[in-house]
Amino acid sequence: MVALSSIIRPLASQLQRNLVRNIRSHRNIPQRGCNLTACSSKYVLSQMHPMWQGPLVVPGGDRQSPIDIVVRKSVFDSELKPLLTNYDPRTCQQIWNNGYSFLVEYDDTADKSTLEGGPLQDKFRLCQFHFHWGESNAWGSEHTLDRRLFPAELHLVHWNSNKYSLFEEAVMEENGLAVIGVFLKVGKRHEGLQKLVDALPAIRHKGSVVEFTKFDPACLLPTNTDDYWTYHGSLTTPPLTESVTWIVMKQHIEVSHDQLAVFRSLLFTSAEEEIQRSMVNNFRVQQPLCGRTVRSSFSPFLQEAPLTGEDKHSH
Ligand SMILES: [Zn+2]
Repeated sequence: MVALSSIIRPLASQLQRNLVRNIRSHRNIPQRGCNLTACSSKYVLSQMHPMWQGPLVVPGGDRQSPIDIVVRKSVFDSELKPLLTNYDPRTCQQIWNNGYSFLVEYDDTADKSTLEGGPLQDKFRLCQFHFHWGESNAWGSEHTLDRRLFPAELHLVHWNSNKYSLFEEAVMEENGLAVIGVFLKVGKRHEGLQKLVDALPAIRHKGSVVEFTKFDPACLLPTNTDDYWTYHGSLTTPPLTESVTWIVMKQHIEVSHDQLAVFRSLLFTSAEEEIQRSMVNNFRVQQPLCGRTVRSSFSPFLQEAPLTGEDKHSH
């Protein structure tokens, strides 16, 4: 344990330095300690990434993410339109183990892979997607549905290219980012995901990057993207800025246990580190709703009713 803490402590202080550097430009933010006991068992916390092993100062605010989505309290908004994703697989560039998750990164220098519609007024560019997952299938997602945890959650991160010229600019601003969240359940093998799973052993250690091309992120979306919840929130990793329009899909996708096992074979640690730590439980604890409204694009009272052609036209 002595050796472990001697590794964690410098890493934690380095992460804290990075965090401070990231939020330095954010003036007049009230600060508070991260409440690590909320929503997480001591056992899970003991396994968590040093980034969340407090005390750690994070930006205050009442629009933090992730949250629990209480389905019966979400408000149906008939103005919410279907999502329009237009992804060009040729903009896929590389996969990077950043020591907390793996990022599949896209060329975002032009409007080639974009997201519009839904709750959004502007056009948003895809810059990367990544996942959060647990060490077991019993937990791992960041958002929950009526307190129900999923084994993993996909985040497709987009920035507002109508209003801003760079991700780094958009991340600090109101209405700067739009993130699609998709819950993963364990079941059938996901054929689209497999190409990515096959590439992961090459980026086992923190800091490794490999070329990864021609991957269409649309294959990771559920078949129904019309039904979603949306709310105003934050990034769930530093700098935790409250710049995100969250779009959480109602329908989950399925992946196999073996595919998730490959996620769990990645490492938080670099090749040089003496004690290697598995990349698991890379999620943030839940944050209070603080009076925010979660809107839904679908009416909970109609959701299971089979639609006939006639019904569709009458809507
Ligand atoms: Zn995320």
